[in-house]
Amino acid sequence: MAKHKIAIIGLGKITQDQHLPVIDKSGDFEVAAVVSQRGLSHNGVPSFKTAAELYAAMPEIGIVSVNTPPDVRHAIAREALVAGKHVLLEKPPAATLAEFEDLKAFAEAEGKVLFATWHSQFNPAVDEAKALLAKQGVRSVKIEWREDVKKWHPGQDWVWEPGGFGVFDPGINALSIFVKILPFAPFVKAAELTYPANRQTPIAAKLVFGSAAASAPALTADFDWREQGDEKWHMTIETADGKKLRLYKGGAALEVDGKLVVEAPSEEYERIYAHFADLLASGKSDVDGSPLRLVADAMLVGRRNVTDAFDW
Ligand code: NAP
Repeated sequence: MAKHKIAIIGLGKITQDQHLPVIDKSGDFEVAAVVSQRGLSHNGVPSFKTAAELYAAMPEIGIVSVNTPPDVRHAIAREALVAGKHVLLEKPPAATLAEFEDLKAFAEAEGKVLFATWHSQFNPAVDEAKALLAKQGVRSVKIEWREDVKKWHPGQDWVWEPGGFGVFDPGINALSIFVKILPFAPFVKAAELTYPANRQTPIAAKLVFGSAAASAPALTADFDWREQGDEKWHMTIETADGKKLRLYKGGAALEVDGKLVVEAPSEEYERIYAHFADLLASGKSDVDGSPLRLVADAMLVGRRNVTDAFDW
């Protein structure tokens, strides 16, 4: 079967690190054009400054991947849906819940496939943790997602602007795993949000979750962008029957009672595009807003602290 022609909107870090190399070796997709405000290109395919120019010049491209910062994602995704395109969204799928719901409803009304990706969910170790917790129940989950913002977002000032998510930009990856593996829905009960004096988004967040689960499991998250040295992207989990799970390396590895049970190479984006091909074949969308909802709820109930100014 011919490959799907796809256009990539926004040629920043994640497009260069993952989307382009993964699509280039995909059997399902080929990059047929790009939209880049800076005029970047890829393998000589046509490059447009705006999506409108792309849609006018190359109407045969029926699919776009929107990899911009989140604050502009809704407008760009809606424009794509209006133009009749199927749409893949980088995480987080929108800057607000209302924007997210609008995209979900509009894609459905237009009969277009919308895929709100959560890349950290696309790990075999995450699937295994979900299966274990479904069988064995949950006594506690302690999330630690700590990294150095200067290493992972060098010079990206948008992360500090309203709608930029701050430390929730990586933290939402942990939350996307959390909502996938839990056999019940978590609620944010309390949040402590720490803002640099000169910035609009938090540099650290500590969350406490509740749930309607009868066993009242203890659920916490600690997100911090001031980590020095290696990043800590892991969660420790105790099952109801006392097993100790450690899901680490961002969801790529799982230990049970100290024994490694799954470790797969990080192929999150390969799996994302394989799933997208399946969605296109079936005409179904995949749009889960629950990680975004937890971030929004943390902002609703969060207590604010102020810390030292942050500069690159
Ligand atoms: P980035 O390096 O800042 O790239 C974003 C790109 O989007 C920019 O380089 C620009 O590309 C385009 N853009 C910026 N403002 C725009 C606007 N107003 N309208 C249209 N296009 C605009 O950011 P990133 O790290 O790639 O992150 C992008 C998204 O991917 C974020 O939501 C992030 O959470 C997610 N993500 C990032 C990573 C990571 O490791 N960095 C990992 C997974 C997911 P052009 O100049 O080419 O248009």
